[in-house]
Amino acid sequence: RVLRAERPEGTRVRVGPVEVGGPGFVVMAGPCAVEGAEQVQHAASVVAAAGAHVLRGGVFKPRTSPYAFQGMGEPGLHVLAEAGRRHGLPIISEVMESAQIPLMEASTDILQVGARNMQNYSLLRALGKVRKPVLLKRGLSATLQEWLLAAEYILDGGNEQVMLCERGIRTFETELRNTLDLAAVAWAKQRSHLPVIVDPSHATGDPALILPMSLAAAAAGADGLLIEVHPKPEQAMCDGHQALTPERFETLMRRLPAVLDAV
Ligand code: PEP
Ligand code: MN
Repeated sequence: RVLRAERPEGTRVRVGPVEVGGPGFVVMAGPCAVEGAEQVQHAASVVAAAGAHVLRGGVFKPRTSPYAFQGMGEPGLHVLAEAGRRHGLPIISEVMESAQIPLMEASTDILQVGARNMQNYSLLRALGKVRKPVLLKRGLSATLQEWLLAAEYILDGGNEQVMLCERGIRTFETELRNTLDLAAVAWAKQRSHLPVIVDPSHATGDPALILPMSLAAAAAGADGLLIEVHPKPEQAMCDGHQALTPERFETLMRRLPAVLDAV
């Protein structure tokens, strides 16, 4: 059976003025978690000035420990939306459960499905009814078929605005947070018509590796990147150890065009 995800349709996802899956390369950047108005405004001004196209920020955070910061929830969403408006950036944020969909659909431009929820089929089915783009992260140990079939749940529900996101998988390697599967990016581009985004932040967990892996993702044919940037990583309430400083993010944005021109 040929999947909807496999039919050669050349999906382009439209987010305001931004098009994902077309000739342009789209960079989504911002903090792991929204922590307050000042932090998000600062992050938004940094990523906008460096040339990012979409502002990221989690308000519902899937944390490994129930005692860790769980995100600001709905108030954080309004703070994120205001920062996006001020800097002319559409916003992306994670939806963790179906009950959050009406709020997320009304307030965000892209709904992110986190790695831990890739096989939450009732959530995926509910997102099939949404009229906003969905960015579907690959599960921590999902095969490529499982990833495509998860996208199929959303497409089958009638929402064709789906992007795939490779964010690293769990392997025997422990030195890095995850193992970035770049062959999966090239495979997904050949096998499906859906745009493919790479998240080198969660894939490596190491700010020193985000630049080389971003360049490699661009060379592998990715349609864009999802990157964690924090104005003060050492003060971050979530994933500060992997956040790029504004300076490092600017360097990355300066280095990308050479690779994009070469492929
Ligand atoms: C995130 O983007 O902050 C996140 C929680 O990512 P993942 O679902 O890939 O772990
Ligand atoms: Mn994170």
